[in-house]
Amino acid sequence: MVELGGDVVALTQVLCDIPSVSGDEKVIADAVEAALRPLAHLEVLRDGDAVVARTRLGRGTRVILAGHLDTVPIADNLPTVLSGSGDDEVLRGRGTVDMKGGVAVMLTLAAQLTEPRYDITYVFYDHEEVAAKLNGLGRLVRNHPDWLVGDFAVLGEPSDATVEAGCQGTMRVKITVPGVAAHAARPWRGVNAIHGAGAVLDRLRAYEPRQPIVEGLQYREALNAVRIEGGVAGNVIPDECVLYVNHRFAPDRDVAEAEQFLREYFAGFELEVTDAAAGARPGLDNPAAKELLALVGRTPAPKLGWTDLARFSGLGVPGVNFGPGDPLQAHTAEEHCPTPAIREALRVLTDWLS
Ligand SMILES: [Zn+2]
Repeated sequence: MVELGGDVVALTQVLCDIPSVSGDEKVIADAVEAALRPLAHLEVLRDGDAVVARTRLGRGTRVILAGHLDTVPIADNLPTVLSGSGDDEVLRGRGTVDMKGGVAVMLTLAAQLTEPRYDITYVFYDHEEVAAKLNGLGRLVRNHPDWLVGDFAVLGEPSDATVEAGCQGTMRVKITVPGVAAHAARPWRGVNAIHGAGAVLDRLRAYEPRQPIVEGLQYREALNAVRIEGGVAGNVIPDECVLYVNHRFAPDRDVAEAEQFLREYFAGFELEVTDAAAGARPGLDNPAAKELLALVGRTPAPKLGWTDLARFSGLGVPGVNFGPGDPLQAHTAEEHCPTPAIREALRVLTDWLS
């Protein structure tokens, strides 16, 4: 049973002790739904193992608070263990950082804030830690985009007490360098595709990352070969070499612009986009976002990795990551979170939304 209205650390512990490895979120989703249903100020909606709850107060601004309910597999690190006290109190176990501390904060807000200053939509979803096509937030975007309408989103992933804003996009491309096969004893009868790939590697080595400032934050793009394939036998001049390149691009560019950049940068080579996902604008020019930053009191950092914020951005909702815990602890067997961080995140968000 998940009961709201009590201590946020105790709630974090209860949530962590309900195992919810990706694909196995039904029990925790049922518990979250059952805890939210009695709250008269919230409309509660459900799709699969995702639960959405929202106020309908007619405020001019709507804020979305979102977090995933699943975890990576348990590594003999449940049930949770609470140790220390006061400023040194620590909660250990799977999910304490990624991200049931953040979920506990959001559930506590959902119960406490009957009259928030903005309308709030709380989104708890499944399948974040596995293949993108299973992602519960992605499913909500497809099935119920109307449930995700808002002006600004906060994803409660661990951000170590600071705000990590927006996120960069990612694109994978395949560059194929052709050659002509021949016997290695008579190489002049062929064209060596692996040697030809050297020109692609030269361009990769010469790459100077663009570091654009977007809404006051400096992002840093990246362009890297991540795999190379070529050659058929020890005595054959290879007739093809394929390079797989990953490009990370700042949120001032969309997927089409990133592709155009790559086509120009690798002009003369055959290039195929195999996978792409847009980034997310930070939305720090939004007045609600400015107030949140002031309350956090730390310089926001640009998020360089791709996160689910991009799914909100695709719906026109900018956003930031803000949640308790050190992201470096996520997915480790030693996963643990200082409990003052959970209380502090709750305090900041309560001050922001009250
Ligand atoms: Zn996470």
